[in-house]
Amino acid sequence: MQQVCILGATGSIGESTLDVISRHPDLYSVFALTTNTRVEKLVAQAKICRPKFLVVADPEKYLQAKQLASDAGLDAEILSGPKALAEVAAHTQTDIVMAAIVGAAGLQPTLAAVKSSKRVLLANKESLVMSGELFMQAVRDHNAILLPVDSEHNAIFQSLPLDYQYGDLDSAGISKILLTGSGGPFLRTPMDELNLVTPEQACAHPNWDMGRKISVDSATMMNKGLEYIEARWLFGLQCDDIQVVLHPQSVIHSMVQYRDGSVIAQMGNPDMRTPIAHCLAFPNRIEAGVSPLDFSSLADFTFAQPDFARYPNLRVAIQACKEGQSATTCLNAANEIAVEAFLNSQIEYTDIVRVNEQTLAQIESRPLNEIEHVLALDVEARVIAKNIVNRIS
Ligand code: NAD
Ligand code: MG
Repeated sequence: MQQVCILGATGSIGESTLDVISRHPDLYSVFALTTNTRVEKLVAQAKICRPKFLVVADPEKYLQAKQLASDAGLDAEILSGPKALAEVAAHTQTDIVMAAIVGAAGLQPTLAAVKSSKRVLLANKESLVMSGELFMQAVRDHNAILLPVDSEHNAIFQSLPLDYQYGDLDSAGISKILLTGSGGPFLRTPMDELNLVTPEQACAHPNWDMGRKISVDSATMMNKGLEYIEARWLFGLQCDDIQVVLHPQSVIHSMVQYRDGSVIAQMGNPDMRTPIAHCLAFPNRIEAGVSPLDFSSLADFTFAQPDFARYPNLRVAIQACKEGQSATTCLNAANEIAVEAFLNSQIEYTDIVRVNEQTLAQIESRPLNEIEHVLALDVEARVIAKNIVNRIS
């Protein structure tokens, strides 16, 4: 029986993880659930899966969580504050950690899981965008098992040879990693109307049901940019090894192209329970609750090159990937601020890229040799991005 700690249990990935686990009570048991502020939902989840620990990252919600848990007759221990996230992730009884907190807040607890040599199921792409080199070094130093939940990276992982060695594309005969993206809800919106799109429209993804931050990133294709950076670190690639391909139907989740002309793709209905189940059970396969792909009902199956005029954030992210770790850390921070400002209707959709570019322009590249340097730069970039937001809005 594997004990699972779900960081970010109340989010979209957290819920899908609980759904998969509930189908396999003989294999997995929930050890800890965490949330930032959504204590009602956390307690409702705990009533069903009976974890040993509940963590509320926001200390102001601690008393409310304690009261709700006691009213529900739960005997779970309740902890609060960001440090407690790392504690449950690194706990000796935890076997598997689902890293599904959104944003930079996920970095430290995910790294704590890595440093405790856990099996880490990585949804929080921001960890790698901010600190890829240090993070992957920690994975190697501590013999952690890192498995990609992000559907594209999971697809690439499934399409690579099983004995693929980190960074060694040559020996594996690989010529390109083809990272697919749908293009989001504004694929065909007239360019001169993009400044008018609302947060609700941006969050209405045609294929995937996700949290609000990643939904906006999917609309701008910053998500694909973050995934480009994520792929670079996860698989030890050079930036030019990766090519972004538009595939609006989201049936192929990504591909690996080999020297001999073969292309191996992973396909399936767009449902995160597939990569979650794959990571939970790897190298085995378990039921995920996902309906089988029905080829007879696939109307279209199309591909295109992404247009940087429509998706300038993708260009900015690829450029940052080439510049290095400090640029990607700044970009991640600026983008979190910009997306939040857009979701709060402070800035327009087309301002997001302005905030990102202007923040990057104001910060000089620097070496980041320790995680503390990464966190300090993250804070610095947020201050600059907030000033830019205030100027624009
Ligand atoms: P979400 O917004 O639905 O959920 C986020 C979770 O993080 C919630 O449980 C929330 O309580 C918690 N959280 C937020 N801020 C926090 C903080 N400061 N401290 C502690 N906890 C905090 O997000 P999601 O869509 O589930 O995405 C989670 C992560 O998975 C993101 O990094 C996203 O990029 C990645 N991801 C998501 C999908 C998807 O389909 N949803 C796909 C691929 C990757
Ligand atoms: Mg993805």
